[in-house]
Amino acid sequence: MQKIATVEGTKAVISKYPFAFQKKFGQNFLIDPHVLDKIIRAADITGEDCVIEIGPGIGCVTQALLEHAGKVISIEIDDQLIPILTEQFGAEPHFKLIHKDVLKVDLAKLIAEESPHKRVKVVANLPYYITTPIIMTLLENELPIESITVMVQKEVADRLSSKPSTKQYGAISVAVNYFSEPYLVANVPRNCFMPRPNVDSAVIKLTVHEEPPVKVNNVKQMFRIIKAAFLLRRKTLLNTLAAHGELGIDKEKLKELLDESGIGAQTRGETLSIEEFARLSDYIDEHR
Ligand code: SAM
Repeated sequence: MQKIATVEGTKAVISKYPFAFQKKFGQNFLIDPHVLDKIIRAADITGEDCVIEIGPGIGCVTQALLEHAGKVISIEIDDQLIPILTEQFGAEPHFKLIHKDVLKVDLAKLIAEESPHKRVKVVANLPYYITTPIIMTLLENELPIESITVMVQKEVADRLSSKPSTKQYGAISVAVNYFSEPYLVANVPRNCFMPRPNVDSAVIKLTVHEEPPVKVNNVKQMFRIIKAAFLLRRKTLLNTLAAHGELGIDKEKLKELLDESGIGAQTRGETLSIEEFARLSDYIDEHR
């Protein structure tokens, strides 16, 4: 079969079907075989692996995944793409297509059924309009996932792999660092896609921790603090946590807790590492 991840390959597939690109589904198909190679190499897929692909499109990444993986499960929302994918890959015994919105799929059940003994690998050229909800769903639900190798908007990749005290560092950077080890695989210019998007992209690999890097008594509370800490970036932790109010602690007591924990009421949330957020959360838990 002709390689799909090229201009000619993509045009050849599309011209066979009554297909029209859907902007609302974030459809920018990869047409660069070198970028595809980088994704596949970074994902480190073997015949033992079950791979979940989100948004296969016309199947350029799917085609390469099927060459390397033991099993490929692709989840696609767009009706138009189902016959295209079925015709091309339906005969492959290790391919399964799920026609659904990925955010409505019960991933825990799917993984338990399809790969009960080994954590899965997720590989995708993600639809950019829902990148963050997809990544957070994959991480927060503590699913048996070994790694997530995805194409995202360059700006999002920078945020996911950013360190404290940088402009890009935000609540999502802290969350990603809590659940995984991020690694920037490659920057990808906009001319590697059809149609060409108006942003640059990057491939990022998140290697999911088996155990979180820090122990914290109340993970939900820590994430409430993290979200609140970045809501008002320019404010001190005291002011933003007090303004947010979700902790249910008055400002005076908050000041005391922040100072006594060693974090400091005047500190800004954007300077704190995951270890410091965990320390603050535990201190508040134990002394409120
Ligand atoms: N994998 C293909 C490629 O690399 O050329 C297509 C990538 S394109 C950026 C994103 C794909 O995700 C499209 O096929 C789109 O229809 C699909 N998609 C968008 N929203 C989705 C959702 N909520 N659930 C599943 N698939 C979705």
